[in-house]
Amino acid sequence: MTTLQAPAARRSITDTLATGQRSYSFEFFPPKTERGERTLWQALRRVEAVNPTFVSVTYGAGGSSRERTAAITERIAEETTLRPVAHLTAVGHSLAELRHIIGRYADAGIRDVLALRGDPPGNPRGPWVPHPDGLQHAIDLVQLVRRCGDFDIGVAAFPERHPRSADWESEIRHLTAKFRAGAGYAITQMFFSADHYFRLRDRLAAAGCHAPVIPEIMPAVRFEQITRFAELSDATFPDQLARSLEAARNDPQAAHRIGVDHATELAQQLLDAEAPGLHYITLNHSTAALDIHRALRLPAHPAQPLS
Ligand code: FAD
Repeated sequence: MTTLQAPAARRSITDTLATGQRSYSFEFFPPKTERGERTLWQALRRVEAVNPTFVSVTYGAGGSSRERTAAITERIAEETTLRPVAHLTAVGHSLAELRHIIGRYADAGIRDVLALRGDPPGNPRGPWVPHPDGLQHAIDLVQLVRRCGDFDIGVAAFPERHPRSADWESEIRHLTAKFRAGAGYAITQMFFSADHYFRLRDRLAAAGCHAPVIPEIMPAVRFEQITRFAELSDATFPDQLARSLEAARNDPQAAHRIGVDHATELAQQLLDAEAPGLHYITLNHSTAALDIHRALRLPAHPAQPLS
């Protein structure tokens, strides 16, 4: 595969963060239905109005969902002013397939990849079995994407430690190695207490790593979501927030307010402590994420600078 050159256009996310400018971003997933697709595009258009640094699209475990990720990411690049970051995982892919996908993104003008290992399909907590001709860890994907061209690469970080890491020492060693391999920034797993983020940052600093780690903000606006969050991550959910959401089970507006207020307070604590930005999970409904973003009363986000 030939090495691809980035067109001289927007400053990269890594360079933007290096100037001290914060990054505000919104995460979406590829919907399964036409109705879901319409909801996604309505949400994307609302998010476009606040001029985020980027939006990202998650990568699923199966073929059709993966095709939708690629198609949506390409359409965002072509039809909106948004910068799309394509999530990519090593799950079930040979090296040749991964090269092909990266090449397809490059052809569509996409230069931003979140390089992830992914989880075992079917049972995310099961043992990790790499594709026989594929990659073992996210760091291998970082290296591959770098070799394929001029990409800006993000990686995952875990404020409460990756569930399968043996200990913090190996967790930090593997995360710092991803930065050394060429990742410019990390985005965290969801968490609900700022202390988890601060402790991760302190651990990285103690290891001599000061790379930007963007905290993920997951608004919890319905009691029923808590079980789903536990399935998606091992994040500790605060008892008090769970009780408040349970008490508001039959009052969606009150539950929404409780979740948005909690997430806004968390986001404010993170920004007050110099977090390099925020990455909001939207679940394809931008309302809660935008409510938080607006409640923070941030200074007008400058238009993405041209280099
Ligand atoms: P890795 O960095 O490979 O780490 C996985 C485990 O292996 C960790 O325990 C780590 O400590 C260990 N490890 C790493 N390198 C080495 C090494 N060299 N030797 C030994 N052990 C090592 N999943 C999806 O399927 N699609 C998505 O779109 C998606 N988006 C995500 C976005 C964010 C912001 C985050 C935080 C997670 C996302 N995930 C997604 C989930 C992610 O793929 C899983 O959590 C996965 O288990 C870990 O991925 P990783 O990239 O951190 O893997």
